[in-house]
Amino acid sequence: MKTSRVDVLIIGGGPAGLACAIELRALGIKDVRVVDREADAGGVPRHSNHLGYGIRDLHRFMTGPAYAKSYVERAQKCGVTISTSTTATQVGEGTYVDLSAPQGLERVHAKAIVLATGARERGRNARMIPGARPAGIYTTGSLQQALYLRHLDIGTKAVIIGAEHVSFSALMTLSHAKVKTLAMITDQSKHSSVLGAKLLSQLIYRFRFIPSTEIVEIHGNARVTGITIRDNQGKTSSIDCDTIIFTGNWIPDYELARRGKVDSAGVFAIGNLHLPIKSADQCAVLARKAAKAIAEHVSSAPALKNG
Ligand SMILES: Cc1cc2nc3c(=O)[nH]c(=O)nc-3n(C[C@H](O)[C@H](O)[C@H](O)COP(=O)(O)OP(=O)(O)OC[C@H]3O[C@@H](n4cnc5c(N)ncnc54)[C@H](O)[C@@H]3O)c2cc1C
Repeated sequence: MKTSRVDVLIIGGGPAGLACAIELRALGIKDVRVVDREADAGGVPRHSNHLGYGIRDLHRFMTGPAYAKSYVERAQKCGVTISTSTTATQVGEGTYVDLSAPQGLERVHAKAIVLATGARERGRNARMIPGARPAGIYTTGSLQQALYLRHLDIGTKAVIIGAEHVSFSALMTLSHAKVKTLAMITDQSKHSSVLGAKLLSQLIYRFRFIPSTEIVEIHGNARVTGITIRDNQGKTSSIDCDTIIFTGNWIPDYELARRGKVDSAGVFAIGNLHLPIKSADQCAVLARKAAKAIAEHVSSAPALKNG
């Protein structure tokens, strides 16, 4: 296995990881490397193709892909090394990380290790929804990847499960995909986004908002054909649809932290891994603040041993 050494290794090249890397370079840290398992760095915004990014950190109003591109370019310009298609598989004893990439395995020794692996929406399995397992079921993130990165056909009639900020992102994405949203369903008594988002989107997209209701079964064999829902009075009904989007209900991407030795002083967590869930610009601003503590740790850390 190849071995290497850096001052800081950041796992995850989303807004938090890249903002932290850029700040570390500005603070004078020499070797800063970011690894990301995807073919391109940038994190979730890469495929979140709508406006709403960059206000608090870059003081601009940008689409997700433009925001991601801007961070990647700024990181490269200030000398951050970015390794894509590179998955961190283990954090060992707070001093090294094992990586797997198409070119082979690598063990990287670092004075500081930063976990910036983000968060994901709970999918159908994690929500324990009974019924068949047909095609046509997405989270907002997987919907956006399917549409914007893989250019797949999505469907014709959708139901969105959940009613938080990201649910309105799903609504816009479905509209881009020319899929009619029939209903937005939440088990809460009201949506948890800003009121304007709900009112405006209902006016534009004309969907039913169904609160205090849960999805109890998915129908269809090869492809989704509908769902059964139940309101808080116990009354059930069905909706015919070929697409279901599970939105929000976040879970931190914590597997690496859970299986590794991360209780040492040299391991840090930033971004939505430990904040779920904040907007990208909030993650970036807080990651920049965290960089100061990381830089202090690096400055006082002993030199890395050879080997
Ligand atoms: C559909 C959707 C719409 C959104 N819309 C907005 C919006 O309009 N405005 C806004 O400000 N925010 C929005 N957000 C939220 C925003 O995208 C997140 O707050 C932000 O991406 C979090 O940044 P992060 O760096 O913490 O994590 P992420 O962006 O999730 O990045 C984590 C990175 O870590 C990588 N990674 C994970 N595990 C490993 C591993 N083991 N090895 C290597 N790499 C790994 C992943 O590939 C990923 O690139 C939206 C989110 C979603 C899902």
